[in-house]
Amino acid sequence: YTGKTGGQMLSDKIKDITVAHYQSRPVLVSASSSVYEAICTMFLEDCGTLFVVDKSNTLIGVASRKDLLRASLGEGSLETTPVSVVMSRMPNIAMCQKEDAIIEVAQTLMTRQIDGLPIVKKVAVGSGYEVIGRVTKTNLTALLVDLANNDFE
Ligand code: ADP
Repeated sequence: YTGKTGGQMLSDKIKDITVAHYQSRPVLVSASSSVYEAICTMFLEDCGTLFVVDKSNTLIGVASRKDLLRASLGEGSLETTPVSVVMSRMPNIAMCQKEDAIIEVAQTLMTRQIDGLPIVKKVAVGSGYEVIGRVTKTNLTALLVDLANNDFE
């Protein structure tokens, strides 16, 4: 008997869960894609956040549903405006790594008021980040359901 309360056991359990346990496939678009193409990708891939990468597959930004909606209200043509004009860009992108605690991701989503983070890997010293996954509020909801069902041992 450890003398721990149920609450302590639950919080210990949660602290051990990493991003790698609850992740989704990232959906990427290239920086030269148009806003129109980005909207199509969002519908086809059924995701709310796109990660924008350059020619060498390095993360340069994030385009959310609202970024694309805002662009659609503007004057410019959706076919000719590049998604890179309307995205949020590096270095102001919140990211995580697959070995990070999932609860830290939850904290970041709350403080930054965003829906998801790219899971990244540093390509080489001094270079950019490669996107290897995605973690969103949906993944955190799945975690909550698993905890309630005691499916996470
Ligand atoms: P939505 O805009 O569809 O409600 P979010 O709440 O995730 O989706 O996005 C809000 C704003 O934050 C958008 O302008 C988006 O570009 C930006 N954003 C989304 N994810 C990130 C992130 N990981 N890092 C930095 N900015 C982000």
